[in-house]
Amino acid sequence: MRAVEHFIGGNAASGGTRQHEIWDPNSGEVQAKVSLGTGEELQKAVDAANNAQPAWAATNPQKRARVMFAFKALVEAHMDELAELLSSEHGKVIADAQGDVQRGLDVIEFACGIPHALKGEYTQGAGPGIDVYSMRQPLGIVAGITPFNFPAMIPMWMFGVAIACGNAFILKPSERDPSVPVRLAELMKEAGLPDGILQVVHGDKQMVDAILDHDDIKAVSFVGSTDIAHYVYQRGTENGKRVQAMGGAKNHGIVMPDADLDQVVNDLAGAAFGSAGERCMALPVVVPVGNDTADRLREKLLPAIDALRVGVSTDVDAHYGPVVTAEHKQRVENWIQTGVDEGAELVVDGRGFSLQGHEEGFFIGPSLFDHVKPGMESYKEEIFGPVLQILRAGDFEEALGLASDHQYGNGVAIFTRNGHAAREFASRVNVGMVGINVPIPVPVAYHTFGGWKNSAFGDTNQHGMEGVKFWTKIKTITQRWPDGSPDGGNAFVIPTMG
Ligand code: NAD
Repeated sequence: MRAVEHFIGGNAASGGTRQHEIWDPNSGEVQAKVSLGTGEELQKAVDAANNAQPAWAATNPQKRARVMFAFKALVEAHMDELAELLSSEHGKVIADAQGDVQRGLDVIEFACGIPHALKGEYTQGAGPGIDVYSMRQPLGIVAGITPFNFPAMIPMWMFGVAIACGNAFILKPSERDPSVPVRLAELMKEAGLPDGILQVVHGDKQMVDAILDHDDIKAVSFVGSTDIAHYVYQRGTENGKRVQAMGGAKNHGIVMPDADLDQVVNDLAGAAFGSAGERCMALPVVVPVGNDTADRLREKLLPAIDALRVGVSTDVDAHYGPVVTAEHKQRVENWIQTGVDEGAELVVDGRGFSLQGHEEGFFIGPSLFDHVKPGMESYKEEIFGPVLQILRAGDFEEALGLASDHQYGNGVAIFTRNGHAAREFASRVNVGMVGINVPIPVPVAYHTFGGWKNSAFGDTNQHGMEGVKFWTKIKTITQRWPDGSPDGGNAFVIPTMG
């Protein structure tokens, strides 16, 4: 059986007495095993990082960027291999797996411009004979802990920017689909990255705790579910680290009466059911404004859901594949039952779906609920499966309030032809990322990604200039080159640059 090892000091490394099974979600069989490491493997990675990081930080930014350029070309050359590997462990269809890799590469492209992003600021003549300038310096050794649902994109969000800024990066990927992160680290080495600057250690809570408690690790970026994000944020910051921790989501799509419903239904089908709903920027809640809009939307949604093709992840005609594990499938189906028990109307039931020839795969058919109410647990919590919930709102204010008051605030979308309504919505909604007639408003790499409320802890976002800020510390220099003549100032009074 294939074994997935750590990647420490530029080489595959075994270590850890426990192992985790990696499933093939299409067949329901175990396809590989990954070693779960401990503080011992982490220490080896930290030692290698400590050896390599000072020289990397001293390498000029243009040379660091050249490694990113070479890495981008290598990932492009290996796109098919990476997408197939990713799809085989995660279950998302191949085209979607390519998108996962590409959205990460977008951040690598941003990192190629790091010399420009790190230039700093300069003020000549901030006072008499005084200049002020600032520089951004790397933090040293930093770490990223990533979820199963974007095993290529999210690691690249983090290490692309962190490494370009001059840090050594230790990645702890999800133990459910850890192979692509290791391949990415191998390709970074091939691109010319010195050993010890990008390392991968596998593990579960034990490894996460070791990272959070290690004195040499200065910053931690986490993406995963909310309870764990909160835990990571608390423990990491208590230990004096800089922490950004992104959590779960429950994104709403507001549908105004004037929206183009055919377009909305097309967008919703992809955003609610694509990747089997396992996206933090999925759109699992739709809020039609007015009963008439709700009835018309529901009528159009039914044939669109009926037309969805669930298949193995290598089926080019499939809209979505299996969910990641049998355990996750059970969890999603339990939420569907909770929705029924709470009194929502289950219009389409995706439970009990079986794909011929793949009866043991972790497939779930699409589900649709109507008449979901704000007090229901199945609405308050994240389901993370192919389940769309309709919540009917009486008017714009009620719809705005639903999205704003929900515990999660990752993304939200409004569908309308009314520019004023859209503008008002974007400015007032209490959510971090907003789409206007865009169902999955994941910002491009040179902007920044991050939610609000229980969707993110810490105050700095992923990638873009926010990422540069997170992975660096700023130093500000005030300089004077006296010409020898007495300046006549009073050294006992705080300088006012007067
Ligand atoms: P998860 O929280 O189970 O795992 C995330 C990481 O935490 C993994 O590396 C895992 O090994 C580690 N971990 C698991 N249990 C732990 C514990 N008890 N203590 C410490 N670490 C632990 O998340 P997941 O199921 O892999 O990913 C799905 C979740 O991630 C969803 O909630 C989704 O919304 C969220 N997500 C959020 C964003 C975002 O940007 N907000 C993006 C993608 C995914």
